[in-house]
Amino acid sequence: MALIPEIAHTMVESTKAVYQYTMYQLKHPALTNIYYCVLIAYLTCFVFEIILPKKRQHGVLTRKGFWLDTFYVFFNDVVVYVIGLFALCAVTELIFMKILALFGIHSLKVADITDWNPVAQIAIMFVIQDFCEYVAHYLLHRSDVLWTFHKIHHAQETLGAGSTRRFHFVEMFIFKPIIYIPFAMIGYSAADYFLFQITIQNVWGFFTHMNIHLKWGILNYVVNTPETHAWHHAKNIPRHYGVNYASILPLWDLMFGTFYLPAKEEPQIGIPDQKDMPQTFLGQLMYPFRQIAAGKHKTSQNVPAKKK
Ligand SMILES: [Zn+2]
Ligand SMILES: [Zn+2]
Repeated sequence: MALIPEIAHTMVESTKAVYQYTMYQLKHPALTNIYYCVLIAYLTCFVFEIILPKKRQHGVLTRKGFWLDTFYVFFNDVVVYVIGLFALCAVTELIFMKILALFGIHSLKVADITDWNPVAQIAIMFVIQDFCEYVAHYLLHRSDVLWTFHKIHHAQETLGAGSTRRFHFVEMFIFKPIIYIPFAMIGYSAADYFLFQITIQNVWGFFTHMNIHLKWGILNYVVNTPETHAWHHAKNIPRHYGVNYASILPLWDLMFGTFYLPAKEEPQIGIPDQKDMPQTFLGQLMYPFRQIAAGKHKTSQNVPAKKK
């Protein structure tokens, strides 16, 4: 089959498969059902935001941006995943295979761990995923073009559980299919990767954006917490390109010197030029394209370093 029709066929078939899977899951509520697990995680975070002391004094439902964040949760977790992401992973694998075939390589697999102990499999997938997410997040801050997209996540003035999903879908379309490649190399299909994607990493994002006032102590060095992630969203940081990029394991930040958790200071949430950011979903969708077209992304670098 010629390449373009093959890509189109893969996209249509993958989208159909994930749509059918989603419809089946939604019609059969169960605690083992991934979509309902994500929903329960989201609602649980709300409950904790209500009952635990707040770090920043704004209402859980009345904070600025709450309804926009809720729309982003639906858009990025359902629409983008179902319509685009799974299909893009399958197409990435297809194109990658075609490129490898030019060099006489006909399988992406360098190992197959799919018959290993499930706990070991989850641990390996988790470490690969989390490290790749760290690198991807770092690049989102280092590249002017990518930062223009990622800036939408950072231009929030308040944080709450739903804030985790306020990001431009292009971020996902660029990195998630690339992150699939190492999974394919150890024997996993795009479907396995898709299911893994919407579990731990996604749910953890709700937790790290919660507006709660708890001190996590030594745990801040074991997992990413609302305390450390608030510093990722802060203006008053000492590094020009940001700190605390990790999704779950601060190990990567500690290893590469990007961990930051001052003892006494409080994080000031936002970025210096957040007033430029449109406050509507469509405005934010178009924002990076307009900035890039106008050549403004070159001056829209991340937060400035603290004055010495
Ligand atoms: Zn970031
Ligand atoms: Zn965040």
